[in-house]
Amino acid sequence: MRTISVAKGDGIGPEIMDATLKIIKATGAQVEFEEVAIGEKVYLEGNTSGISQEAWDSIRKNRIFLKAPITTPQGGGYKSLNVTMRKTLGLYANVRPCRSYSPYVDTKHPTMDVVVIRENEEDLYAGIEHQQTADVAQCLKLITKPGSEKIIRYAFEYAKHFNRKKVTCFSKDNIMKQTDGLFHKVFNEVAKEYPDIESEHWIVDIGTAKIADTPEDFDVVVTSNLYGDIISDITAQIAGSVGLAGSGNIGASCSMFEAIHGSAPDIAGKKIANPSGLLMGAVQMLDYIGEVKAAADIQNAWLKTLEDGIHTADIYNDDNSKRKVGTMEFADAVIENLGKLPNHLPVLKPAKEKPFVLPQNTLPLPQKKELKGVDVFVDDQDKNPESVASKLQKMNFDDIELVMITNRGVKVWPNGFDETFCTQHWRCRFTTKSERTLEKKDIVQLLSKALDNDIDVIKTENLYTFDGERGFSLGQGQ
Ligand code: NAD
Repeated sequence: MRTISVAKGDGIGPEIMDATLKIIKATGAQVEFEEVAIGEKVYLEGNTSGISQEAWDSIRKNRIFLKAPITTPQGGGYKSLNVTMRKTLGLYANVRPCRSYSPYVDTKHPTMDVVVIRENEEDLYAGIEHQQTADVAQCLKLITKPGSEKIIRYAFEYAKHFNRKKVTCFSKDNIMKQTDGLFHKVFNEVAKEYPDIESEHWIVDIGTAKIADTPEDFDVVVTSNLYGDIISDITAQIAGSVGLAGSGNIGASCSMFEAIHGSAPDIAGKKIANPSGLLMGAVQMLDYIGEVKAAADIQNAWLKTLEDGIHTADIYNDDNSKRKVGTMEFADAVIENLGKLPNHLPVLKPAKEKPFVLPQNTLPLPQKKELKGVDVFVDDQDKNPESVASKLQKMNFDDIELVMITNRGVKVWPNGFDETFCTQHWRCRFTTKSERTLEKKDIVQLLSKALDNDIDVIKTENLYTFDGERGFSLGQGQ
């Protein structure tokens, strides 16, 4: 018997959770539930994360968490519970299946069946932001090799487990050659290990346009955090079923499953909420822990209920609906249909019997790291690159010299264009004239010269090669 931590959440949470648990229990799945407190009440008791200590203890003990939506109280100081959960528990993979259920649920894409797998911990969501000059703020985009490998392997293993045919990677490596370039490179490496699964890469802008236009051409999509955030919402929306979609947040030791919608305070307590989103989260959970029969039974009974026209108010329509039901009546109809298959909607692709085993990383890291130069970032109100350069050349010494200045990434010295707009934020690249590598003490000396010459350094970035490969971008126009 597997124990699952369960949070009933806020708003419609308790209603849809009761309905979902009733359906799970009716399948005979070998699971039991342990209720924990999270959400509004916990926030208002003064806990800024919204999660009680007992809840953390239970989730870490049971390692599987089924969560109803919660309400984040208005006003400052309350941290996003979802972000806290994902980061604290290392839930690196966000898995969101987006299927259409035409004609029972309206959609322009009646045959789409896409699973978006989004990296959940890195990228611009590391939340490392700084304002460096009066006019410039930056956010650090962190893409790691192990993080990329973990999510990409997860996507291929997911495809294998659920008998899917293709994995598509989205990145913007034509522009971000180091960060997105790393993600794409790791994708190519990992794809080679799965010759039976087709693999392809799209630049994220045109790829997103393509997915919005012809989602039926996609199967499993894997991408980094920010793109995944956007693409998974687009994909759920065009399936016509934001309210019907569930998602999984998978980590090496714990996993959390939920609906993608919120706590719908406008209909809370009315007993009319649709429990389907949470139920689909629960189906993913059952698949994940190896209760694949219960998962398939629920999914198929649920599809049959949709086909029967037994609909909650949010999806009720005159063409396909036969009976408008409340939350619990809907659950009872699903239970009634357990063991039956849908007549028209495609039956769920069955998962493999054994539980999903998370893949291990195997790609090696580069061995040799050499310091080739340093980018010194300077705050200077001077708008003229030539005069900024002449100030900075006072930092030159021995064989170390200023070789380039960029402003917002565009080369403005030497040979800049008058048309280029310049801010106070100058990236100034120093390298050695000779073949020798730079040393850390050279950087200290550069900074000391900056101090002597009243140059306002706001940060430095070391320029490395790794196994001889350049680990930094060139200036645009360089
Ligand atoms: P929402 O998803 O709660 O509601 C949007 C609209 O969809 C409302 O009209 C609502 O009635 C309807 N709706 C949502 N789920 C439904 C269901 N199961 N059945 C029928 N109708 C449904 O989004 P919101 O109003 O922006 O947010 C409400 C609260 O939920 C906020 O406090 C927000 O922070 C929180 N929220 C929580 C989560 C989560 O816990 N994962 C996710 C999103 C929003």
